[in-house]
Amino acid sequence: MELSERAKQFKISGIRVLFDKAEKYQNTINFGIGEPGFRPPQNVIDKTAWALNNGYTKYVSNAGILPLREAIAKRSREVNGLDCGVSNVHVFVGATHALLMAMLSILNPGDDILIPCPYYAAYIGMVDMAEAHIVDVPVYEKDKFHVKAENLEKFLTPKTKAVLINSPSNPLGSVTPPEDLKEIAEFAIRHDLWVISDEPYESLLYDGAKQISIGSLPGMTERTITVNSFSKTYAMAGFRIGWFIGPADLCTQVTKIQSSTTSSVAGAIQVGALEALTGPQDYVQEMVKEYNVRRKLMVEGINRIKGFSCLAPEGAFYTFPNIQATGMDSWTLAEYILDKAQVVTVPGLSFGPYGEGYLRVSFCTETENIVEGLRRMEALFGTK
Ligand code: PMP
Repeated sequence: MELSERAKQFKISGIRVLFDKAEKYQNTINFGIGEPGFRPPQNVIDKTAWALNNGYTKYVSNAGILPLREAIAKRSREVNGLDCGVSNVHVFVGATHALLMAMLSILNPGDDILIPCPYYAAYIGMVDMAEAHIVDVPVYEKDKFHVKAENLEKFLTPKTKAVLINSPSNPLGSVTPPEDLKEIAEFAIRHDLWVISDEPYESLLYDGAKQISIGSLPGMTERTITVNSFSKTYAMAGFRIGWFIGPADLCTQVTKIQSSTTSSVAGAIQVGALEALTGPQDYVQEMVKEYNVRRKLMVEGINRIKGFSCLAPEGAFYTFPNIQATGMDSWTLAEYILDKAQVVTVPGLSFGPYGEGYLRVSFCTETENIVEGLRRMEALFGTK
């Protein structure tokens, strides 16, 4: 029987291809994953189990349970400076689902969306599902991988409906500073564009990097959808819960799409998420402190390896080393490192065309794995 073109043409993530290949090896070190190497807070696990034992086994409201939406609105006002209330909050199955729902709510078939590139590869499938088109806007190492309004302006098309900003960035580890975000906001207002701001790494910041939500800037409330998640801040990736903040009428409309897709996020998971937001927050600082140790180790180690050089990431848990001096393209190099050293990295090209010449090397994993992976890579390439 014939499958749909959509199913047949859907692009598989480069990360998956490498992971599948890695399965044939034993004793691999995984610098490819984008998943926190920590357990979620124990109070969150306990509260979720409590919820399952106490009646949260039924359908709940599509938009999210009220106490959770209230807590998200409060946090978004206090932490992100967003002008919002409960009617602006919608809960989804992770930021992944929130992003898809945002795109389905604002993009018409044939619309263009500007996305600074390299970008999180899952955007490609989402934009495809909305039958829209990504305009790749280059982000440069010379700019510390910060997004620049002047580059967005150069790539603007008559069909551009939206721009997507992801800071702190996956895969770049960059944090676009407030001055640049102000210029991007002015650009969006000047051209009457929607902004989707994907902010799941907002709590993972280093060296005093300052993250602000572009939706908090003047004139941005009505045109910004701020996407966030429990996956990174609370290491709750497997809970599958995230949210967005957007204009109230958009939230009303998206509820209809939600009811025909997932219906809602599981009630017990929402109770656990509420506990994450309202319980003790020292968990987050402790985690960031540990990531910072791993980050330093990784950056120093990579910069010792012949043919590699990398900026110190300002946020998230990824380094994005320049590998042009190795003379290999990013796919050849990632496969070479896997085959010869059993270390998994992700080719830059899997994050869009401007990712060529780079690898994504994540430092989520434990310190001893970082030390061992770097040792193997040094043995393979030599030191400077
Ligand atoms: N956006 C970015 C930039 C990400 O890196 C990820 C997860 N890797 C997501 C969104 C999706 O996160 P979630 O687990 O909340 O779906």
